[in-house]
Amino acid sequence: MNAEPYLLTPGPITTSMTTKEAMLHDWGSWDADFNTVTADVRQRLLTLANAEGSHTCVPVQGSGSFAVEATLGTLVPRDGKVLVLMNGAYGQRIGKSLSYMGRAYSAIDKGDYAPPQPEEVQAALDADPAITHVAVVFCETSSGILNPVAEIAEVVKAAGRNLIIDAMSAFGALPVDAQTLPFDALISAANKCIEGVPGFGYAIIRESVLAQCEGNAHSLSLDLYDQWSYMERTGQWRFTPPTHVVAAFQQALNEHDTEGGCEGRLARYSRNRDRMVAGLRSLGFRTLLDDQWLSPIITTFFSPEDEKFDFKTFYNKLKEKNYIIYPGKLTKAESFRIGHIGQLYDEQVDGLIDAVAAVLDEMQISLK
Ligand SMILES: *Cc1c(COP(=O)(O)O)cnc(C)c1O
Repeated sequence: MNAEPYLLTPGPITTSMTTKEAMLHDWGSWDADFNTVTADVRQRLLTLANAEGSHTCVPVQGSGSFAVEATLGTLVPRDGKVLVLMNGAYGQRIGKSLSYMGRAYSAIDKGDYAPPQPEEVQAALDADPAITHVAVVFCETSSGILNPVAEIAEVVKAAGRNLIIDAMSAFGALPVDAQTLPFDALISAANKCIEGVPGFGYAIIRESVLAQCEGNAHSLSLDLYDQWSYMERTGQWRFTPPTHVVAAFQQALNEHDTEGGCEGRLARYSRNRDRMVAGLRSLGFRTLLDDQWLSPIITTFFSPEDEKFDFKTFYNKLKEKNYIIYPGKLTKAESFRIGHIGQLYDEQVDGLIDAVAAVLDEMQISLK
């Protein structure tokens, strides 16, 4: 058997053996034992966000985008309007989801990475009273930039609008405190910073808001009001739950606790970033963003300008050495991305830097 690959990507990520092993058991979806796991996971996610009492946690089957779409469709009434803050692919996807479900929206589009500014949000809200909701991406994973979510949340709250945060790649590492960060919904998924396997997403939703959302959703399977009320009543998921994924997620949460929660995880991811950026810079690579903007989640590097550089070859040669990297998502410049999240430590970071050096040699590319 080949050695396990290391995924230096923003999800799915490298999981621990113990998290994988938690899947070696079959569960009945109606069984009390499985319902206990679901209840525990929901409770612990609320605790992580310091959201007990004010919010509820609603998981939904599918990848992260399913959870985003479900949250938008459930919270935004059919005659509502969303201001979408875009600075990359995930903000754009929110707009696309809204078009599919027929909800009105306008956008502040900052291009590939520049963060939306609170003053711009303020001006847009002042100018258009029809806007009911604002949607923002916490860490825009396509560039790696962290958006000024706390400042934006204050503006949205003062304007009396509802805030929906796509915190997919941030929650579990970047601190979130529902008592000081005013949001109505915050979304993430199993396979990001909590380090579970992919298969469901979840939204942490202000309970008083969700209670008003009956009948909003355009889709039965993506109706989080219905999922929530059924779960509250029966302890069960409405439709077949990803049982093994939920069990693995519970184990991943245990390991998240053991590592020191969000704080411990943020420390390790930040260390991974610093080591990776220093290592690749010493080989001659440049980052898209200046140091102050580099997130501990993922970093975008410019591809070498050398005409012998070809991303596919670079990727495949790294893969032969068991390192899986991520293509870039910029519209203007050739780039690739390296994730810092998942079960990655100094050994894997140094291993990747050595592998990149070796592959550049093989491709006869010199960056200096
Ligand atoms: C990963 C991610 C998503 C969800 O992507 P899926 O491919 O549907 O899992 C959404 N938003 C952000 C910011 C992400 O990083």
